[in-house]
Amino acid sequence: MPETMKAAVLHGVEDLRIDHLPVPSLASPYDVIVRIRQVGVCGSDIHYYRHGRIGHFVVEEPMILGHECAGEVVEVGKKVSALAPGDRVALEPGVPCRRCEFCHEGRYNLCADVVFFATPPVDGAFCEYVTSPADFAFRLPEHVSTEEGAIMEPLAVGMWSTHRAGVSAGDTVAVLGAGPIGLVTLQAAKARGATTLIITDVEQSRLEFAGRLGATHTLNAGQCDVVEAIREITDGRGADAVLDAAGASQTIGQALRAVKSGGRVILIGIPPEDEVPVSMPDLISRELDVGGIFRYANMYGRAIAAVAAGLIDVKGMITHHYQLDEAEEALVFADEHKSECIKVAVSV
Ligand SMILES: [Zn+2]
Ligand SMILES: [Zn+2]
Repeated sequence: MPETMKAAVLHGVEDLRIDHLPVPSLASPYDVIVRIRQVGVCGSDIHYYRHGRIGHFVVEEPMILGHECAGEVVEVGKKVSALAPGDRVALEPGVPCRRCEFCHEGRYNLCADVVFFATPPVDGAFCEYVTSPADFAFRLPEHVSTEEGAIMEPLAVGMWSTHRAGVSAGDTVAVLGAGPIGLVTLQAAKARGATTLIITDVEQSRLEFAGRLGATHTLNAGQCDVVEAIREITDGRGADAVLDAAGASQTIGQALRAVKSGGRVILIGIPPEDEVPVSMPDLISRELDVGGIFRYANMYGRAIAAVAAGLIDVKGMITHHYQLDEAEEALVFADEHKSECIKVAVSV
């Protein structure tokens, strides 16, 4: 194993450098070392690059970006029996404490001590080698590519959201926002058996993309009244579940009005304002169940199985490719060309 590796390190706002850093070594006998091969560019990476922070997570020390990653195992700790060097794996990027109430309940995404790639001060995966606990490294089947493995991360969000929304066979589901998270959420709803799949966005190109991935109705929110249109599609009833992947106060309002009475609203996107006005008559008198989403728990194995079975197409979502040396170009491109690109992947 080499002693140093290349890494794309964020030193400050819009200051991304390719640095040479020491290769990490096994910290525990339960860890593996993974040679990273593919990393997806996520909105959060772009946000850290442009603003140096997301909410109260502030980049104070140089930090390696990237958390949607896959690669191959190169070394395993003494206690690891489930993986061997050469195995291709997708890495679940957030490792919880395993000891608190939430970890014990299986809702480890709510653990206060999660160590998550590329969330300050934790380094991410835009680099050649990382260590991971073996149980957060998920082996990819032969016919699932390493590049697809990197996209299991956003897919896990879509799988968790539709799980929390209780989407089941025959449901009418509306997804607000056709960015990468909206598109994986749409596909996860379809995989769970939803039959009427409505998606909204203001970018026509993204709606066309969503149509190819299985949306039965695409609504341009800039050209129609989304709530009216959803009511029309559902004969005035409203959707069984509405999932907001846009995270704007406007779409949160739409979600509450477009869902059927007694239906479920899942909020995935985080609005820029801490407080957003909501319609109390809808929320209370129509007995809506409203829930938030923070990452996911226990979804990686299922996400890989769903892709392996052909239920979900993540390959079709990767529209652009870059090399690690071009990580900055990849971030800037993904930020400035939202209408042409869905997922940008970086090969390492
Ligand atoms: Zn992400
Ligand atoms: Zn915990």
